Amino acid sequence: HTFENLGLSQPVLQALDLKGYSTPTPIQAQAIPSVLEGRDLLGIAQTGTGKTAAFMLPSIDNLREADRQTPFKSCRMLVLAPTRELAGQIADSAKDYGALAGLKVQSIVGGTSVNKDRNKLHRGTDILVATPGRLLDLIDQKAFQLNGVEILVLDEADQMLDLGFIHALRRISQLVPAERQTLFFSATMPAQIKELVGKYCNNPATVSV
Ligand code: AMP
Repeated sequence: HTFENLGLSQPVLQALDLKGYSTPTPIQAQAIPSVLEGRDLLGIAQTGTGKTAAFMLPSIDNLREADRQTPFKSCRMLVLAPTRELAGQIADSAKDYGALAGLKVQSIVGGTSVNKDRNKLHRGTDILVATPGRLLDLIDQKAFQLNGVEILVLDEADQMLDLGFIHALRRISQLVPAERQTLFFSATMPAQIKELVGKYCNNPATVSV
């Protein structure tokens, strides 16, 4: 496989070229075509497999294709991650890939100024990377809403459960638009994760690496 024959656009291929990635990893080769088709995805994969690019690259093309405006106080793509560190890494990679497509990326995590986050999000953003607790704080303060979400990613869902985010994830599942694409990643599949997959995903393509 090459990135070209997975169906990615020129701007995304250029971004990959700048990063120096020439060959897709197994999860990228398996996930990218399904995500480009608009399907939900269940990815059973650990960190280090290249899963960030597996969800980010085709999502950027889906956002380009839909060509909607950045929504006020909302986002088009929401990525939920368990920790500040992971959220920061995902946001960095979203910036690398999204810049050439003209997509605005923000991240909000616990332990930083909520007021700064309110200001950052006021005009909306194309891609938001967030930890679940901070996201719900901003929603409760009416500083942000989820009505613009076209693509929802849950990264390291099992870690989010271990960190006590189950209620947050159940709430968020009720706030996102029903019509959306969901990409769900977990390294393990315990019963609570299966329940969440059932809540979030609609007939997902499953990829396990
Ligand atoms: P991740 O599993 O998303 O945290 O990615 C693991 C590491 O692999 C990161 O440092 C990425 O920058 C790198 N990476 C992801 N995809 C590729 C690829 N196709 N070729 C080379 N390196 C990659």
